[in-house]
Amino acid sequence: MTVSPPAVDEGSGEKSQTLYDHDRESIGALLNNEPRYRVDQLWQGLYQNFATPQQITTLPKTLRSALDARAPLALTEVERSEADGGQTIKWLWRLHDGHQVETVLMLYPDRATVCVSSQAGCAMACSFCATGQAGFDRHLTTGEIVEQVVRAAAAAGERRVSNIVFMGMGEPLANFDNTWSSIERIHGDIGLSARSITVSTVGVIPGIRRLAAATLPVTLAVSLHAANDVLRNELVPLNRRYPISALCDAMMEFRQAKGRRVSLEWALIHGVNDTDRDATELASIARRVRAHVNLIPLNPTPGYPVVGAPPARLREFRDLLEQHGANATVRRTRGLEIDAACGQLAARHRDVADQPVTIGSPSR
Ligand code: SAH
Repeated sequence: MTVSPPAVDEGSGEKSQTLYDHDRESIGALLNNEPRYRVDQLWQGLYQNFATPQQITTLPKTLRSALDARAPLALTEVERSEADGGQTIKWLWRLHDGHQVETVLMLYPDRATVCVSSQAGCAMACSFCATGQAGFDRHLTTGEIVEQVVRAAAAAGERRVSNIVFMGMGEPLANFDNTWSSIERIHGDIGLSARSITVSTVGVIPGIRRLAAATLPVTLAVSLHAANDVLRNELVPLNRRYPISALCDAMMEFRQAKGRRVSLEWALIHGVNDTDRDATELASIARRVRAHVNLIPLNPTPGYPVVGAPPARLREFRDLLEQHGANATVRRTRGLEIDAACGQLAARHRDVADQPVTIGSPSR
């Protein structure tokens, strides 16, 4: 059977205007051209204090209610779970159309990272990834992405969010426009440095090129997982469209344009991509593109009955890479027991999306 590679639609997706979909100008228009200072108060409340409109009490009550009605929040909390002694928090959100996405906040001694979703589901169909196993629902809007950061930042409180990783559900470069405008908002309005925003991709080359040409020097991570096309075609089906050598060229282009080292993500799968030969091949690619390798223990997912490499092999593999002249680190897993670890985000969007959405519609 021949399996065709997933289609990459770079369109902007949905156009519904939730609170965080608005920019300063359009929110001003929405407020019937209230004086400028009102818009400033609102913007400060939303993007610096992470307040809901109702909590921004410097605004008149009528204005707050008008906002609730005309520019509602996008995310309804379905479930919030904690792990690692409260240092990892995962949210399951419902969107207006019943689809569900997840967001993870990870608190470390020296930083606080939010892992955001860029799509409901994912069309990339990577065999070992829970989101890929579940399939694609739709692109998220700019506001739906930005609001994930804001809601997590509100929960982080005193701990200012310092890093954003696009490593939740979805392929961010398959939803380029909305991903990029959310990055501009996270950078310009919330105030995070571009370098502390990481876009992770399976290797959508046109998207990598657009990132290389864009203004902000974000960090790029490429989910490689296999260093030869035969294995990568199997693990990451998009490789059939954008094979490794072309992907390496795009990574080098990015590094040259932005002066930023790319990271290569590698989930170690026992007996699949953790052999000595894999280490040699990977090291050669890492040297060629001068990338850093992030080794991730494979996290269990229901649709992929293969186990991760044992911890001792993870360390050996890292040492082998180092011996072959590549820099590598082993990434610690967070949130495993609440299915918040890398590749485990699947929500339960399939079940819910299949049910009729009754909010705001007459009973049937
Ligand atoms: N679509 C993007 C971002 C989402 S996944 C991408 O693929 O890069 C974020 C990271 O988790 C990717 O590196 C992905 O390959 C990795 N991942 C997916 N499933 C995993 C699993 N079961 N165990 C460990 N890492 C996994």
